[in-house]
Amino acid sequence: MSQKCLHCGANIQPNESCRDRFDLCLALEFENPIAFGAVHHLTVACYMLQHNAYARDVWLEATKIGR
Ligand SMILES: [Zn+2]
Repeated sequence: MSQKCLHCGANIQPNESCRDRFDLCLALEFENPIAFGAVHHLTVACYMLQHNAYARDVWLEATKIGR
C-alpha cells in the first residue's frame, strides 16, 4: 500500500521517501555525469521547490529557471 509524501503529495511506498528517490537521482548523476549530470540543476531545483526546501530568496531565483 502506498502513502503520500507530506511535502509534495507524491505516492511513495512504505519505507521510502522522496529524499530517497532524489538521492538515487544524484547517484545516477555521479555514475553517468554526461547523461544525468546534464540536468543536475533541474533535478535539484525540482526537488527543492516541490519540498519547499529553499530559503525565500533562493526560491525566488529557482522559480526563474527556464523563463
Ligand atoms: Zn515529496
